[in-house]
Amino acid sequence: MKYLSTRNKNSSVSGAEAVVKGIAADGGLFVPEYFPQITLPDLNTMVSQTYPERAAFILSKFFDEFTYAELLEFAEAAYRKFDDDSVCPLVIIEDGPAILELTHGPTLAFKDMALSLMPYLLSASRKKLNENEKTLILVATSGDTGKAALEGFKDAEGIEIIVFYPESGVSAMQKLQMTTAEGKNLAAAGIFGNFDDAQTAVKAIFADKEINARLLETGYKLSSANSINWGRLAPQIAYYFSAYADLLGAGEIAPGEKINFAVPTGNFGNILACYYARRMGLPVANIICASNQNRVLADFFENGEYDVNRDFFKTMSPAMDILVSSNLERMLFELTGRDDQKIKGYAASLASEGSYVVDTAIFNNLDFVAGWADEEDTRALIEGFFEETEYVLDPHTAVAASVYYDYAEASGDDAKTVIVSTANPYKFPSDVYFCLTGTRVEDEFKAAQRLQIFSGMDIPDSIKELKTKAVLHKNKYEPDRLGEAVFELLEKINEKSGSKAE
Ligand SMILES: *Cc1c(COP(=O)(O)O)cnc(C)c1O
Repeated sequence: MKYLSTRNKNSSVSGAEAVVKGIAADGGLFVPEYFPQITLPDLNTMVSQTYPERAAFILSKFFDEFTYAELLEFAEAAYRKFDDDSVCPLVIIEDGPAILELTHGPTLAFKDMALSLMPYLLSASRKKLNENEKTLILVATSGDTGKAALEGFKDAEGIEIIVFYPESGVSAMQKLQMTTAEGKNLAAAGIFGNFDDAQTAVKAIFADKEINARLLETGYKLSSANSINWGRLAPQIAYYFSAYADLLGAGEIAPGEKINFAVPTGNFGNILACYYARRMGLPVANIICASNQNRVLADFFENGEYDVNRDFFKTMSPAMDILVSSNLERMLFELTGRDDQKIKGYAASLASEGSYVVDTAIFNNLDFVAGWADEEDTRALIEGFFEETEYVLDPHTAVAASVYYDYAEASGDDAKTVIVSTANPYKFPSDVYFCLTGTRVEDEFKAAQRLQIFSGMDIPDSIKELKTKAVLHKNKYEPDRLGEAVFELLEKINEKSGSKAE
């Protein structure tokens, strides 16, 4: 399987190269040359498989440089750290939607599904390519990717990682998860700005020839663990198949019956994996793209104009407080019939004007349902859903549920629907407790205790531990100083690991 750049489909790389490079030299994203097809008998086989087996099967369709046995070994090692034997259990609510819990990894967010596995893919790809330089991973995070990447890549051989998070754009728990991260090969730092500022600044470093040359002199090549990296996206495709297999196994659907997925969306990575799964033959009817108050995607699906010239809101679902959804480029590449020149045009227009308008033909092809939920919709949904089911949703998942119910009511669509759950509510205890009770408890740890008493849901150990962990990462930077920041933080990492950057 080859991978093409969305901005130049005539240049292609191997899967291993796509993972190691992260982003194409022309600024485009790597996409698979074609979509391998999964059949109904394949889906039937999956019913009795473990999650690592399901994941290895899907990944084997995309990475022919690794054997199935190798991929299975990676998946088993990656998902051993999860606190549920089925890795991503599907909770079936009677007469209601099913909930796909992608929240059982070490950092309690769906990012663990990919970032637990990606280090194995990256290390093996480095070996395949005989990489001599160390890989330096730069991450811009809206909250959950940062910790999941720090956790996934902790002490990985030949790999170092630096995470930048928006100083006042993540929850207190999310920030603590990152600033207390242990490991010899990593650093985290705050950025004065929002996620888009962080993402733009990190992308600028990738494109900066001088910085890259200076890094190469000291023995580093850059890569990315953001959802633009194919190594992030590929593992995410697997859980859509897994959810379908679980519904089949539970007798909730008939073989081949089409289902819907509702996905809380920020950078368009999670939902793009769903779209890819549909292209691979997974029987999916509607893919429901749910935005919070930062509804740039909902507007785009409504009128065909992607426009970031608008106010930016800080919401209870910070991982979705994003205006520039990078992975949309991959979907548009497909919807334009792989017109790389058109994609280049959109990217240039987005960079210069902050907007682009897609052609009518493409607009008519946008095969997604989209909607958004404001803060009050989200709050009411969390409260109402708990009253009815005694199930506590985190604010991100609640956005998806709210958009789903609006859609189902307006359309009458009664197809079996899976709501993709992306975070454990204890990552946002103060907000969730407020949504459920109307009482605001500012201290996040106290709020977590109250939430436990109120809901009967256990507080995960990894949240309790945060209270006593030492804060190890305290640096903060202006976005325009990120280049210097990288070298400063590398020095810190090298002091810690005792190895001098030569
Ligand atoms: C990252 C994240 C999202 C958004 O996912 P994208 O792939 O960026 O669209 C939604 N919810 C949570 C909890 C997340 O961490």
